[in-house]
Amino acid sequence: MITTCELCGREIKGTPYSITIDRVKVIVCKKCASRYRDAQPLSKTTRRQSIHIPKPQRRSIPKDLKFTVVEDYAQIIKEAREMMGLTREVLAKMVGEKESVIKKIEEGRLIPPIELARKLERVLKVNLVVEEDLELETYTYETPRHSYELTLGDIVEIKKPKK
Ligand SMILES: [Zn+2]
Repeated sequence: MITTCELCGREIKGTPYSITIDRVKVIVCKKCASRYRDAQPLSKTTRRQSIHIPKPQRRSIPKDLKFTVVEDYAQIIKEAREMMGLTREVLAKMVGEKESVIKKIEEGRLIPPIELARKLERVLKVNLVVEEDLELETYTYETPRHSYELTLGDIVEIKKPKK
């Protein structure tokens, strides 16, 4: 496969280099790369040598595991139901549950499972489910640069010269 430099257009004979221009990664020859400080040789070992990846896979954890029902769910549900003028019986039917279940929930004796909480959210137009793991967000903010560059790098590797 012949790779051409995206800056000077010449065929790259040695190791192609990867540089970033306006947040876009381009493949250039060694000569052009020498003008850029962030030039990195684009070889099979690029990924290994450039960045030690902490644990980005955490993002792929099924999202429902990360959700929890708010603490004052009982009050929120009761108030919203009364605001809408619904009886417990009617609300129970709307979400496909028994009236006794709604009663227990409103009395704070039963935390609704996420699925039921979501139904109640839709019917009552309230927020009952929140993300449990806030640590994940902090973590993402700490390493934006790395994950960003790595993503672009991956795109460049897949991209072939247009000719
Ligand atoms: Zn060049």
